[in-house]
Amino acid sequence: MRYTEDMSYKTFTCSIARRCGGCELLAVPYELQLRRKHESMKELFARVTEQDGATVEPVRGMQEPLAYRHKAATPFAPGSRATGNRMRCGFYERGSHRIVYCKECLVEAPEARSVLRDVARIADELHISAYDEDRGRGVLRHAVVRMGYATNDVLLTIVTNGSKLPHAAQFVQRMRALHPRISSIVQNVNDRRTNAILGTRNHTLWGPGIMHDRLLGCEFEIGPTSFYQTNPEQTEVLYALAIEGLGDATSMLDAYCGTGTIGLCAAHAKECDLHVVGVEQVSNAVGCARRNARANHVNNRCSFVCDDATTWMAKQSAAQFDAVVLDPPRAGSTPAFLEGVVGLAPKRVVYVSCNPVTQVRDLAILRDGGYRVERIVPVDLFPHTKHVETVVTCSRSA
Ligand code: SAH
Repeated sequence: MRYTEDMSYKTFTCSIARRCGGCELLAVPYELQLRRKHESMKELFARVTEQDGATVEPVRGMQEPLAYRHKAATPFAPGSRATGNRMRCGFYERGSHRIVYCKECLVEAPEARSVLRDVARIADELHISAYDEDRGRGVLRHAVVRMGYATNDVLLTIVTNGSKLPHAAQFVQRMRALHPRISSIVQNVNDRRTNAILGTRNHTLWGPGIMHDRLLGCEFEIGPTSFYQTNPEQTEVLYALAIEGLGDATSMLDAYCGTGTIGLCAAHAKECDLHVVGVEQVSNAVGCARRNARANHVNNRCSFVCDDATTWMAKQSAAQFDAVVLDPPRAGSTPAFLEGVVGLAPKRVVYVSCNPVTQVRDLAILRDGGYRVERIVPVDLFPHTKHVETVVTCSRSA
């Protein structure tokens, strides 16, 4: 069923919405959510639009704002009498570590939640214990599942406290029998007492230990610890806007590049004309980016460096790029990185952001360096939540 004009005013209900807190806007019709997000972006960018004459374009929303999350996760905790001693799984209740059980989630890809629930069920049957975060004991901490968007791959990652996973072979066999679409199962070891879900060590239990997906006609290898956008349909919208922002650039820097997705999609879209250098601090992601360049036959034009973006930038006084794309995490970029960009004097800077508040802060540094904002496009990657991503294109004033 496609999302029609009439359904834009439909609201959706979820029995755990209040406690889970993931979809704060679920009760607001989608059209209205998009309009509200547009208004809040106009307010946030008011100074920028006044100074540079650009307007905030309407938020690019989804046709059907459901089942868009292709990554789902659950924490585990030991059961109690209330759960019939079955281990708990679901979502953390808003602002706490109490787990709210979830049977199905409206915004997750079909089957994702049932894979996670079955991890708990099979673990109980095999007497694999859940991690008790108060005592720091037990085995199973989290599970994360990634469902391919353009492929049928499913990568299941089981996070354990320590490297021991009792009955691993039986666990794999049972999960595969229940969910034949699973294409790989990886054990990730996290033995730190931390809120971070993933540790750094991966051990493949079955399959290739990675998955593949396609965005804008490019194939990507995704490892259990590498960053990959969770809403692929809207990621294509986001990346297409970033690529439009490059104009006629023949060389670009892809800063904070993850597995190289933006630069590689751009190199693919621009055929032979575009050279790309990507910078990313997570070494696993850089390894994926290099393999992704080869898989898409653009490795002669795309190279990737593993470094902190700011440290790397400090060494680039002689580099030349027609365009710089940056896609930093929520904290935004750094003054030193942005000043380095100004020093390189690319014609265009395309700033992709998952936190427009830090983006507006950072844009002031580019403005001081002579860049003017030409285009601001918000994209709704997370319908029913307050999040908005933005693609801002700046050009150097003559
Ligand atoms: N453009 C990619 C990744 C965006 S997420 C995509 O769309 O998939 C931000 C990325 O920045 C993450 O991969 C994160 O590991 C990386 N990162 C965070 N801080 C960094 C830093 N200081 N230097 C380089 N990369 C960094």
